[in-house]
Amino acid sequence: MGVPKGDSVGTYQAVIFDMFDTLVNFRNVHLPLMQVNGRAVRTTSPFVYEVLKPLCGAIPFEDFFRAFVGTYRAAEEIRNREHREVTAHQRFRMLFQRLQIPDGPGVADLMEAGIAEHTRQLARAMEFPASHRALLDRLQPRYRLGIISNFDHGPTVELALVAQDIRDRFETVVVSADIGWRKPRPEIFQETFRQMGIGPTEAVFVGDTPEVDVLGAQAVGMDVIWIDNGTKALPPGTPPPTHTVRSFVEVGDLL
Ligand SMILES: [Mg+2]
Repeated sequence: MGVPKGDSVGTYQAVIFDMFDTLVNFRNVHLPLMQVNGRAVRTTSPFVYEVLKPLCGAIPFEDFFRAFVGTYRAAEEIRNREHREVTAHQRFRMLFQRLQIPDGPGVADLMEAGIAEHTRQLARAMEFPASHRALLDRLQPRYRLGIISNFDHGPTVELALVAQDIRDRFETVVVSADIGWRKPRPEIFQETFRQMGIGPTEAVFVGDTPEVDVLGAQAVGMDVIWIDNGTKALPPGTPPPTHTVRSFVEVGDLL
């Protein structure tokens, strides 16, 4: 694990966290498992299909599933290429277009209901270990805490924090769906600094994804604690993170 360098540790006034697989673990295994075309897949789609039945009851589930996955992939392609967020609403509009669902009375309400069901199912996959809570409890009196999350639906992030009873630990929660840009774009970091009234050197960023969290924080001049959980390598040429740890709990050794 990382060793504190010089006097940098302890001089921050704020700690800003990535959300998923940093603060809150996202476990696909909690998503519904279903058989599609002879393959087992984890997907929220059967629940969403059920909610959207009044609009797409005549569409076979297999066709709905193909459009559901297709729009997810299309959204991911835009996100990865442009670092622009494709919100849940934009993705569902793409889905309705592919399914040739015309606009009409009640369509907007059903879209809202579909998004709510999708995110409700995703929320089931979120885990918040007791050890993470304990570390937050220890850090909160000593640092101002914030979150920057790449996620396509702001209310889901807020509700997940409320559900774990930790929303009040964080002064600022910035979600890409509300900003339009995703990490590693500087805009989402700068909006967080603006909201907290701090500069980049006054905070340390904690995150797990090299391309997003490490490179993003470095590009705006922040120190960064990289949680190297063994699943993602630093891209070649990445400057070494300020600190590297193996787990969220080890962050507590540095702060
Ligand atoms: Mg993450």
